[in-house]
This record gives sequence, C-alpha cells and structure tokens, in this order.
Amino acid sequence: TLIVDDIHKKFGAHEVLKGISLRARKGDVISIIGSSGSGKSTFLRCINFLEMPCAGSVTLGEHVLQAPPPGQRIANPRELTAARTRLAMVFQHFNLWSHMTVLENIIQAPVAVLGISRDEALARARKYLAKVGLPPAVENKYPAHLSGGQQQRVAIARALAMEPEVMLFDEPTSALDPELVGEVLKVMQTLAEEGRTMIVVTHEMGFAREVSSHVVFLHQGRIEEQGPPQRLFGQPSSERLQQFLRGSL
Ligand code: ATP
Ligand code: MG
Repeated sequence: TLIVDDIHKKFGAHEVLKGISLRARKGDVISIIGSSGSGKSTFLRCINFLEMPCAGSVTLGEHVLQAPPPGQRIANPRELTAARTRLAMVFQHFNLWSHMTVLENIIQAPVAVLGISRDEALARARKYLAKVGLPPAVENKYPAHLSGGQQQRVAIARALAMEPEVMLFDEPTSALDPELVGEVLKVMQTLAEEGRTMIVVTHEMGFAREVSSHVVFLHQGRIEEQGPPQRLFGQPSSERLQQFLRGSL
C-alpha cells in the first residue's frame, strides 16, 4: 500500500499543491486528471520525491518519507533510495538513454541499483520486452531508430524490469503521434488487468473511464473531486469537473 499524506509544494510564493492525500492499494489503478497547471505532474513527482514536497509524507510499505523542513535535506536518504526502487516512473518524453541500446537501457538500473546479475537482468529485459509487445529484433537498436510508441513501450519495459510495487505514469501518450497512442494504452490496460498498482496522469479520458479503478480530479492544487470512474464521469458533482469534462476548463 502507498499512502500519500497531505502533500504541499510551493515554488517560491506559488503554492502549487495545497494538501493532497491519496491511498493506493495493490491492484488500484488511479487516474489523475485536471487542466494544465493544476499540479498533476508536480504531485506525481512528489510521490517519489523527485520534487521535494514542502510538507507531508509518503509511506510505501515499511518506508516512510517525510518532507524535510524548509532548506533542509531529507533526514533519511537511505529510505528514499529504498522507496524509489519500488516506485517506477514512466515519463511523457520516454527519457531513454540515447547512447544505450534497448537492452542496455532496460538492464542498467536492475544491475546498478538492485544488484542483480547481468544474465538475470537480460532475462528480465527480454521477458518485459515481450510483455510490451516488442520483438527481439529491437533489442540492439538505439532509441532514435524506434517509433515513439516503441520507445515508450521500451520505457515501460524498463520500469517493469525493476519489478516495482507502484508504477507512476506522467502523460505517457501525450508526446505520441495519434496513431501510436493506442499501442501504448493497450499495454497499460494489460498491466492494469494483471493487477499492477498504477498511478496515471492522463488526458486520455477513455483510459481513465474504462481502465482505472479510481479517478482524482485536481484543480488548482487541490483534489476537487474523486471517486470511481462511473460516478466521476457519469454524475460529476463539482461545477469545475463538469466544466472540465465539457472541455471548457
Ligand atoms: P500539464 O497538464 O500542463 O502538464 P500539470 O497539471 O502537470 O500541467 P504542473 O506541471 O504540476 O501542472 O504545474 C503546476 C504549476 O506549478 C504550474 O503553474 C507550473 O507553472 C508550476 N511549476 C511546475 N514546476 C515548476 C518549477 N520547477 N518551478 C516553478 N514553477 C513550477
Ligand atoms: Mg504535467
């Protein structure tokens, strides 16, 4: 279980997150929706402390990360490292290493961070490449020689190779050409159906509605409304969510 408790984040005087709490149990697929600038990416990055929250805490299993007082470092950097290895992130722009082949991209962290053998990491890499629907022929290619959809599937395989407890996705399809969006969403749907725990920032309302178990609507750094997708999309109670769903927010 991942418990995010009362996260606040300021950039200078601008309070971007005003106390956000969230709980993800095993198998939950949580979609985070909201208009541009509502704080979705900042929130996702605060979950693994890629962005240091100003207040609040994140608990993942036995690991507890507490936001440090202003200007101070995090009190328990080892806990942070340990928690991060169990939270894998997939970015909008894939963030693959361009000078490494597909296989090297995938095995790098399992070998360097988890300390598994190169052979074991290679076996994992091949297993997860197959899971995201990529043929062995891509193994030795460099990212630049793949389509955006293939690159993003490599990034998902790389995240899976860490065998994380929770996967965080920040708009994984929004940098893709429209005809490549479907192949990535399909992989994500498969992962959801396998019972993986996922938190997904997305503009794909179809995905949020059909695949997620819970939807969170952020507005100006607060959770304006949340609940099961049927209710959120079927009977939104907040005026702002209604506006957002009409496309006018
Ligand atoms: P989008 O849908 O466009 O990706 P978002 O909901 O992900 O938007 P964030 O990127 O989290 O929004 O940004 C929330 C607010 O925080 C915005 O006003 C943004 O300008 C501000 N912000 C984000 N990162 C920084 C930063 N590093 N420094 C200063 N301000 C920032
Ligand atoms: Mg964003």
